[in-house]
Amino acid sequence: MKNLIAGNWKMNGNLSDAVNLAQNIVQIIQNEPQLLEKNDFLICPPYHHLVPVQAELSMAVSIGGQDCSPFDNGAYTGDISAEMLKDANCSSVILGHSERRQYYLESNMFIRQKAMMANEQGLTSIICVGETEEQREAGEEQDVVVAQMLESLPETATTENTVIAYEPVWAIGTGKIPTIEDITAMHDFIRSKLSEKLENANKVRILYGGSVKPANAAEIFAVENVNGALIGGASLKAEDFIGIAKAS
Ligand code: PEP
Repeated sequence: MKNLIAGNWKMNGNLSDAVNLAQNIVQIIQNEPQLLEKNDFLICPPYHHLVPVQAELSMAVSIGGQDCSPFDNGAYTGDISAEMLKDANCSSVILGHSERRQYYLESNMFIRQKAMMANEQGLTSIICVGETEEQREAGEEQDVVVAQMLESLPETATTENTVIAYEPVWAIGTGKIPTIEDITAMHDFIRSKLSEKLENANKVRILYGGSVKPANAAEIFAVENVNGALIGGASLKAEDFIGIAKAS
């Protein structure tokens, strides 16, 4: 399977930054089309940048939301519905990012409801899971990750509409990453637990996220059950984002 190289732009930049970044990414891929042999590309800008950024994208790069509402359209101030993301030509949506879990106290059940809405609209849910530093130090990382994953996956989840992103909270934006042995162990574990829930679980992409950079991507992508990366900081520079794909 191709690696999914997914950029989470978070709450960064103004409209012209977003459009420039999208143009630069598309330009590099057009100049180096061999990148598409091993990679699929996805970028997730802030909501109000979705439509203008999408206008800059070629078929080679798809676009996604950073979150969606657990509700249908209606009186939910501040929310964006899965249907609205679909209408903006999104293919995917990131759900349960640790920043949403931490700052907005999102529970697994809440994330599950969002994934259901996303799946109903034909969007792929990128469900984020990952332990805190304290949980890893206490040896609880597998228990935490399996509970987050299984409780967040709705009945509508399939191998086609689901991606899991393993993102240790302590590795996000810190420059720290787990050892390759720890990444291997966690991704193997996620794959085995997924197969208890989904048929053909070997076809589900499991992304690694947390301080991925061009310099460390090759060793991470060499891990058998790593099928791409969810990238925060390094996705804000076209050369770094594409540099990570080059390590595939
Ligand atoms: C993220 O927030 O999903 C992430 C992986 O961030 P960073 O790449 O900056 O660690």
